[in-house]
Amino acid sequence: MAAATSVSLSGAVASSFSGLQKVDSIPGSLQQAMAVELKGVGKVAQRRSRASRGQRVRVAGVRNAVPELVEMEPASQGSQLLVPRKKYCESIYTPIRRKTRTVNIGDVTVGSEHPIRVQTMTTTDTKDVQGTVEQVMRIADRGCDIVRITVQGRREADACYDIKNTLVQKGYNIPLVADIHFAPPIAMKVAECFDKIRINPGNFADRRAQFEKLEYTEADYAEELQHIEEVFTPLVEKCKKLGRAMRIGTNHGSLSDRIMSYYGDSPRGMVESAFEFARICRKHDYHNFVFSMKASNPVVMVQAYRLLVSEMYANDWDYPLHLGVTEAGEGEDGRMKSAIGIGALLQDGLGDTIRVSLTEAPEEEIDPCTKLANLGMKISAEQKGMPEFQEKSRRYFDFQRRTGQLPLQKEGELVDYRNVLHRDGSVLMSVTLDQLKNPETLYRNLATKLIIGMPYKDLATVDTILLKKLPAAADRASRLAVKRLTDVGIGVLTPLAEQLANPLPHAMALATIDEIASGAHKKLPTGTRLAVTLRGDEPEEKLDMLKDLDLIMLLQYLPEGDEKSSRVHSSRRLFEYLQTNELNFPVIHHLQFPAGTDRDDLVIKAGSEAGAMLVDGLGDGVMLEAADQDFEFLRNTSFGMLQGCRMRNTKTEYVSCPSCGRTLFDLQDVSAEIREKTDHLPGVSIAIMGCIVNGPGEMADADFGYVGGAPGKIDLYVGKDVVRRAIPMEKATNELIGLIKEHGRWVDPETADN
Ligand code: SF4
Repeated sequence: MAAATSVSLSGAVASSFSGLQKVDSIPGSLQQAMAVELKGVGKVAQRRSRASRGQRVRVAGVRNAVPELVEMEPASQGSQLLVPRKKYCESIYTPIRRKTRTVNIGDVTVGSEHPIRVQTMTTTDTKDVQGTVEQVMRIADRGCDIVRITVQGRREADACYDIKNTLVQKGYNIPLVADIHFAPPIAMKVAECFDKIRINPGNFADRRAQFEKLEYTEADYAEELQHIEEVFTPLVEKCKKLGRAMRIGTNHGSLSDRIMSYYGDSPRGMVESAFEFARICRKHDYHNFVFSMKASNPVVMVQAYRLLVSEMYANDWDYPLHLGVTEAGEGEDGRMKSAIGIGALLQDGLGDTIRVSLTEAPEEEIDPCTKLANLGMKISAEQKGMPEFQEKSRRYFDFQRRTGQLPLQKEGELVDYRNVLHRDGSVLMSVTLDQLKNPETLYRNLATKLIIGMPYKDLATVDTILLKKLPAAADRASRLAVKRLTDVGIGVLTPLAEQLANPLPHAMALATIDEIASGAHKKLPTGTRLAVTLRGDEPEEKLDMLKDLDLIMLLQYLPEGDEKSSRVHSSRRLFEYLQTNELNFPVIHHLQFPAGTDRDDLVIKAGSEAGAMLVDGLGDGVMLEAADQDFEFLRNTSFGMLQGCRMRNTKTEYVSCPSCGRTLFDLQDVSAEIREKTDHLPGVSIAIMGCIVNGPGEMADADFGYVGGAPGKIDLYVGKDVVRRAIPMEKATNELIGLIKEHGRWVDPETADN
């Protein structure tokens, strides 16, 4: 089964074409480089050479009586052969919830006819029946719909009966899900008392991935599939008989050697891994299951879910989705990563149940999770989007960043504008006149380095400030405070009207599109750098004015709660316009939150709106405003978003598991200790994992890993390789630091500044 295997089709309308080979029977149907052959669609073939990417072509030969218009794109880059552009959601310009079947998990129903359900997982030892029951009750009391419990062995499976019985006796009917890795007999046992079984396709029937390059012949591959079927079928039959649900839950970090040998550690591999098991369920006419495609990297996670859905469309499958970003970490960073990944999918109407996975007590996950679920329901209920537009440029299944043209220095300019934006993503902050009164505090808030009271740019310094009001010309102290910022390359943006009324040397003028229409910007002195703010849903004639402008940046700003349009969809439409017209201005996502917005809401909204664009590679930075929020919080949230979207690393990246009954040490305490000692290493990523069950692949992105190997013993990893085993826990943090030093990634923390 080489990469060039010829299969019938992979595309949004697969199931509509007649005479197609059944994709169910094709292992590896998702191969990227496959040759695509459309059978029985002669008219498409005739038009292939004339249509271009994204062009709509009428497809003949579809079974539906009503002919459909299908977006077409080249089969591969530069190819004249066109294939239907893969659909991954109901609509890219309006959030319509994807129609999914109802899956029954105990008394709870999951699917598009029902609210988005909230889930979490216990962290107690499953054998501790009382402790687990109490934790489940606390979780249920916080409003959680479904709770998962790890079941790693026979003793834990025995405890599950007591857990279930005690909970029911106490009046708690919350559905219980058994989390199973490597243990088919345990799954069989616990299916008798729990409502749902989560299996991990990467390790249910396969041994732990060895991360070795293994060669598979077609016969080897088929033999392994046969083995999976033999091992998995009894569980399918049991779940069907007892009315239990299942989750086929793929993790980016724990794919089998077989899958990795064909697809690599990729979203495609994740989807195929899940499909191998789904085909067996379907073969036995068992459909009470959901899928998940989790990863710690929100970009990978979003792509994997989209690919999964597009393949489900191609196969006419309607199984619900459980969404989650694994090992997101804790605090605002953990919430931000979840908001980016889960929020981006909710914006497209994808997701029927969610978990926000945090290295905190499970009860703490319920509030952000509920907020996201409510946001998803609201988005789909309101269906605020944009009028239909064609989208040809955005990449749904692989990441490609559109980088706006960074400012260039022009002849004769007295300040250097090249640094007012950062190539990896910029942070802009709104600054008030009051803040200018206390320059040293302002400089600290902007995260500049202070040397004898003078600001200098640092790694995570704000790139540009927006001054909505300019200090009067007579206010020399405030003007001097601003000058010191422009002297070190921090940009100063101010509304056009302010700059005309009260000019500030070297400030960039920010005009509305209506001001551009009125020609007001022409009153600026020659050479003034110009930026434009717009909503993204303006009529095309208005946007056409951009073609005549030389802009340093564009700000996209749609007021919160806008009646007409949605931020994500108007933003998509704006990027499509810019791309079509070859306008490469950098674009900053500007979000303003009303007074009273709480921090979690702000993080979730910002992540799921601006973050949803950035994971698609669309955007060059962010500006978050909230009058009653702390400046530092807004700045950190902005940098956190850029880091969560894998754009700009300004702090140590942590991948830490939420912990569960398998955890071999106190994850929260250890995580806090490691963070305290290593949080000054931007560019370094450290995984802190309670056990090795999800494999070193879960740390795919991490440079160093701290992993529970046995009770009280830690294994240390460099990349995917274990380099030190069974280190006593008390010594493990220092050993980890030693390892970071050995690999030349350590710098001593800076002492408090002058
Ligand atoms: S990695 Fe963490 S959450 Fe995952 S199974 Fe191990 S201890 Fe549990």
